[in-house]
Amino acid sequence: MNILYATSEAVPLVKTGGLADVSGALPPALREIGLDCRLLMPGYPAVLQKMGTAVVVARFSGLPDAMEARLLLSTLPGSDTPLYVLDAPLAFTRQGGPYQDAAGQDYMDNAQRFAVLSQVAARLASPDSPLEWRPDLLHCNDWQTGLAPAYLNFLGRPVPSVITVHNLAYQGIFPPSTVPRLGLPAESFSIQGVEYYGNLSFLKAGLYYADRITTVSPTYAEEIQREPLGMGMQGLLATRKADMRGILNGIDTGDWNPSSDLHLPGAYSLRAPSGKKRCKQKLQEEMGLDQDADAPLFGLIARMTHQKGLDLVLAVAEGIIQRGGQLIMLGTGDKDLEQAVRDTVARHPGRAACFIGYDEGLSHRIEAGADCFLMPSRFEPCGLNQMYSLRYGTVPIVHATGGLKDTVEDGVTGFQFQEAAPHALWLAIERALSLYADKAAWKKMQLAGMSRDFSWEHSAKEYAAMYREMLDQRADGAP
Ligand code: ADP
Repeated sequence: MNILYATSEAVPLVKTGGLADVSGALPPALREIGLDCRLLMPGYPAVLQKMGTAVVVARFSGLPDAMEARLLLSTLPGSDTPLYVLDAPLAFTRQGGPYQDAAGQDYMDNAQRFAVLSQVAARLASPDSPLEWRPDLLHCNDWQTGLAPAYLNFLGRPVPSVITVHNLAYQGIFPPSTVPRLGLPAESFSIQGVEYYGNLSFLKAGLYYADRITTVSPTYAEEIQREPLGMGMQGLLATRKADMRGILNGIDTGDWNPSSDLHLPGAYSLRAPSGKKRCKQKLQEEMGLDQDADAPLFGLIARMTHQKGLDLVLAVAEGIIQRGGQLIMLGTGDKDLEQAVRDTVARHPGRAACFIGYDEGLSHRIEAGADCFLMPSRFEPCGLNQMYSLRYGTVPIVHATGGLKDTVEDGVTGFQFQEAAPHALWLAIERALSLYADKAAWKKMQLAGMSRDFSWEHSAKEYAAMYREMLDQRADGAP
């Protein structure tokens, strides 16, 4: 099976969120199990700089906004996955990030920029593709490639398409005046098309025209068919229920392996777990906490946004400390949340600590050194940190939503709470504290988490089975 995987970011080239992790990991995992999966992504300066040797394999003209582009073929660094890089300087040669300028403002022409990417994805999947290599199926991701299934529809649906929703909160909404500039037929601007409450939505286009929709966890697929997590798309999604499924993301089990993690002061594993004690001691030292081997140490790593429920943690921080616990928070984001975290920490010297900023190494040391990991996200399409925690023998305490609900087994590998509210989080923390007091029971829970398999191979097999099903359905003449 030939799969074209269209994405706007992929590690190790460019990352703003979880989409990049999936895009960097899933295509290589699909290749491992025998599929010819290739990536298509924009040629931002960082991509052109970091990719390996590249050759020009095609040229495009007549793209949205009359843009022109070259298509380069390279490989994803660190793997043999073929990488098509869309070199369209007018669209992608920018100083800032992939979507925003250095001041954090969305680029004015994001619609045209990602329409160019979407249209090239569709053209590469059509009989008029300039390439010899043809995909059997087009896999799109989030709003940035959401228009590709629409373009593909107007090219006669030569191959089936699937769109994965990594986070429904980002919908790619633009004024209706944009529509004619993107090479979409006028009739597409309707409810049965790309229109979304009077505007154009790239994501809605993808959800409407793609043959299948996936989310990054089964529970998130259910949740977005209703208020409030449907975020306006629930009506459409409910009508597409039969074509939707959730496939959990994997984690990079090479980067996140406590027995070989170079960020850690001590190695440990399921068979030899004792090195975790040293990680805790060193973490307390690094973060200026009291050296206290018995204090239950709670960790948190998150983008500091409303989604992540940091306010809930701050509401119970006092309680954790009164019960003899310690708390470490790592993250960056909304300035008022950052300040609230700093204020809480200042009130509890030796018992609470934070690092406001992004620090990969520290994130590994927190995952290893903490006893419990707090993840009270209001919603969580999949979530990675709870899976890292399980692998590191750090018991996760999570809000029962999205991927958190699907990966943490309540009372077996961690604790879930049902309502995103401080009292519910507190009750879960109390359950964790009483188990922590029973050393044998605690160890059993840690080991249960460490033995779970969250490798990409697992996810890749599920995607491959879905692709196969879609192609078989096509062959049978089904839509
Ligand atoms: P999201 O994609 O919504 O931010 P995830 O849990 O899916 O949440 O993934 C977040 C990833 O980013 C994890 O790998 C996490 O460890 C990492 N991360 C988030 N904030 C920081 C930070 N301040 N420092 C280091 N790593 C961070």
